[in-house]
Amino acid sequence: MRTAVIYDEIFLKHDLPTHPENALRLKYFMEPVQEMEIPVLKPRQVSYDHLRAVHSENYITDVIVSCRETAPGFFDPDTYYNSYTCDAALVAAGANEMGVELLLSGEYDAVFCAVRPPGHHAERDRAMGFCIFNNVAVAAVKALSMGVGRVFIVDFDAHHGNGTEHIFYNEPRVFYFSTHQYPFYPGTGSDKENNNHILNVPMREGSGDIEYKTVYSGIFREAVRKFKPQIILVSAGYDLHRDDPLTGLEVTDDGVEFIVKEIVDAGRELSAPLLFTLEGGYNLSALKRCSERTFKVLLES
Ligand SMILES: [Zn+2]
Repeated sequence: MRTAVIYDEIFLKHDLPTHPENALRLKYFMEPVQEMEIPVLKPRQVSYDHLRAVHSENYITDVIVSCRETAPGFFDPDTYYNSYTCDAALVAAGANEMGVELLLSGEYDAVFCAVRPPGHHAERDRAMGFCIFNNVAVAAVKALSMGVGRVFIVDFDAHHGNGTEHIFYNEPRVFYFSTHQYPFYPGTGSDKENNNHILNVPMREGSGDIEYKTVYSGIFREAVRKFKPQIILVSAGYDLHRDDPLTGLEVTDDGVEFIVKEIVDAGRELSAPLLFTLEGGYNLSALKRCSERTFKVLLES
């Protein structure tokens, strides 16, 4: 597949070295990108129109003012900010917007937004769980604004993407599919929340390759076939890996490669391009290996 990565050094400046969601993560993630000589493109800031379609005006202003006037600090007990956080978050969302443009113009088949801070816990009006702006939601809104009628989001991060689910709960043009450890942080993601375009598949602590292969080759592929999306967005959180220090799943390198391959095959079947955006993943060497496996699948497909 014609594959590109979107990345900017501003993402490294949002940093707290003692926090699991720190800048080193992205350095490790980018090593295979450089070794495999994948084209790296520089993003711009998100357009305010698309950001306002996802987040409230008050919340956006709060982020901007906090970073400018009260940094460093915390938006919630988990979510730190420094004076660069706002710029990094605006560019992370902008990378997602740009990725959608590149895919819909036909220039690439797959784009990976190697961004920080991550996004899927961010709610319309608040930061949460290391996330400031909901990057994948911005990508979905961008695709809708360009005339795409059916957007499929698949979220394999070990945590449920509460923000993404809530933002699109009443938007049937966006399908949200999530596998996540359950019960677990953030507490949402029960299958009782499912409707005809929200499909949570809660995974028990200790679930590994066998359980994930069953879900991704079965219920995931069926959901994509039925919805027939014109683009697939992936909240790629690699904290489902067995080596991750924050979670309790048992997925191996091979399991991650299998999941990515199912997503790629689902897209190819419908000629739907793929936008990946980085969410979690807190064991540095596992994150690097997951990056390698992901790009190997994309380049070989
Ligand atoms: Zn996570």
